[in-house]
Amino acid sequence: MSEQRTLRIVHLYPELLNLYGDSGNILVLRKRLEWRGIWCEVEEVHVDDRPSLAQADIVFIGGGSDREQKVVCDRLQTMRDELVSFVEDGGVLAAVCGGYQLLGHSYVMGDEEVPGLSLVDLYTDRGSPRLIGNIAVQSRISPQPVVGYENHGGRTHLGTGVEPMGKVLYGFGNDDTSGYEGCLYKNVVGTYVHGPLLPKNPGVADHLIACALDRRYGTRELEPLDDAVELAANQTMLDRLLLHGAKER
Ligand code: GLN
Repeated sequence: MSEQRTLRIVHLYPELLNLYGDSGNILVLRKRLEWRGIWCEVEEVHVDDRPSLAQADIVFIGGGSDREQKVVCDRLQTMRDELVSFVEDGGVLAAVCGGYQLLGHSYVMGDEEVPGLSLVDLYTDRGSPRLIGNIAVQSRISPQPVVGYENHGGRTHLGTGVEPMGKVLYGFGNDDTSGYEGCLYKNVVGTYVHGPLLPKNPGVADHLIACALDRRYGTRELEPLDDAVELAANQTMLDRLLLHGAKER
């Protein structure tokens, strides 16, 4: 009999960082693992918890308002060394919008500055107007364009050599001028895409799972799933945005 494989997901601050259904990403990861016979454990980390990442395979950080980002940033600093070791060791970290911004050096809002984790060489400053609407991104981590929703005042600037998650096909992305969206660094994926991100983008979910399996079990091989519904939802959004998109903006 083959061994029972398990992946452990650490979900940081779900009660504070959960905009536009971001916690739905955890459900998608759990189901896609279970459908493949892989056991999934989820640890929710709340603000007063002192988690250990020793057994973690995937860390998830959702989006949040500026206020919530200010609340969590100090707590995150207490985990910084462990997060750095996790990321540098190839741990999988997915972060959305407010969480994505916190991966960088700082989020500057006028006179105020929210310190980031400096896990990835990037920084964010706040601009006007807010960048709000549907988004589609061509990315090497997904066979289909990544579709979703963005709503952020922050403009994120990637350091030299930091790879974006992809190219904006529709919407604003990191800063509305570079034409790029998100970041990729080792097994870190940072993105502005809410929606939540994973239900309509099964390719991204499987990228995260494959990276985590590779690190723990030495294989990226994934049993294929029937993604007809997910892919139809993805295609519907793409058609809306790319064929009829001019009307939406
Ligand atoms: N507060 C951040 C911003 O407005 C992130 C918002 C979000 O997570 N949607 O840029």
